[in-house]
Amino acid sequence: MQNWSCHSCGGCCREHEIGITDDEKKRIENLQWEAADGVPTDRPVVVRLGSGWRLNHRDDGACVFLNSDGRCRIHAKFGELTKPLACLAYPYAIHPAGKSVTTSLRFSCPSVVQNLGLPLTQQRSEIEAIVRRVVPKDYTQPEAPHLTTRIPLSWPIFMQIQAYIERGLADAHVSFAVRLIRVLSWLDLLEKVEIEILQSDALGSLLAALHEASLRAYPDNSMPVVRPGRMARLMFRQLIAQLLRHDTSVTAQKGLAARMQLLAHGLRFTLGVGAVPTSPDPPSVQTAFGLPGTENQSGRSVSFTAMEAPAEGRTTEIDLLMTRYFQVKVQGIHFCGRAYYDMPLIDGFRALALMYPATLWVARLRVVREGRNQILLRDVQAALATLDHNFGYSPALGLRSSRQRISQLAAMQQISALCNWYSV
Ligand code: SF4
Repeated sequence: MQNWSCHSCGGCCREHEIGITDDEKKRIENLQWEAADGVPTDRPVVVRLGSGWRLNHRDDGACVFLNSDGRCRIHAKFGELTKPLACLAYPYAIHPAGKSVTTSLRFSCPSVVQNLGLPLTQQRSEIEAIVRRVVPKDYTQPEAPHLTTRIPLSWPIFMQIQAYIERGLADAHVSFAVRLIRVLSWLDLLEKVEIEILQSDALGSLLAALHEASLRAYPDNSMPVVRPGRMARLMFRQLIAQLLRHDTSVTAQKGLAARMQLLAHGLRFTLGVGAVPTSPDPPSVQTAFGLPGTENQSGRSVSFTAMEAPAEGRTTEIDLLMTRYFQVKVQGIHFCGRAYYDMPLIDGFRALALMYPATLWVARLRVVREGRNQILLRDVQAALATLDHNFGYSPALGLRSSRQRISQLAAMQQISALCNWYSV
């Protein structure tokens, strides 16, 4: 169900710091760039990134090798394989899956989120070529993600649970929110199961029973909508502030004033009073969706209170987008273990589940700022492209405080409440 081809929007060349190896640095510098190539001559093409290296950017934030057609000058002049591996691999993300690997996608790419391009099933050989370059020759099976911090899993058991999550999310008879709440409910029960049962032959029947019980508990879309508690809404707003934050080479240059503004924004999200702080959308989102992105443009200021009012517009199309997003992330093991701050399966899935209300919250913000009352597919696509940039990549989401937030929201039974409350 997933398509992708690059449409040369240049978003990834503006929004990422491309880390490169020593060999890539030597290779790229030896290509002898000149002014006639269009590469800036007033700065090195490679600069320090921590103890390693990264491609340099222009003052407007674009990679020094990005040309005005949104194409890479290294690719155009010397061929695709000369580019750094990170550029070749994006928007794919390759993760361990037992003795093999699995591939996920970054929905920060507007073509991925809009499902534009060739079906991935027709691109298997290209994807395998990237995998061969990314995966070390001496790859050995790493430990599977744990179920919880104290319960380790083998890969076969991990995959059994993963298959039931996929099954739960695929049931198109009910809304996506209900599917998500069903899976969250049986994972809550699985968390309490003794380790001996998880490691026994009884696991298959246990998973089937939990899945069936969740269908009986939430048989249709007629769930009562209960407003999440005050503390849950506060923690949720803090999560949104972290997901919305976009650090690029341009923001890094802005210095103390910009950091103070970020701090003030974070504080306003925590307090949840007054107007919702906004920042410009990432360049790729502005290019792809052409929506007003700053307070200086046509978007109006929105109060936190207005964000809690019911919105209209849940459609099958939006559910299909969220189903595709979750399928890619679950099949690509892009929510726990190595791909998600070494989080255990259950907490990692809870973090992924929170992307659903967070995305709809940000989509709703776009709607209210434009003076509309209906959430459209484009609003959700733009919101998901903005937030997925950070999912699994922002250091803030891997901090102890972020892990504690997930455990606390789960202990208060508020993750399902948030999914339900913001689903319309
Ligand atoms: S963000 Fe996606 S569509 Fe845009 S240049 Fe990068 S890979 Fe291509």
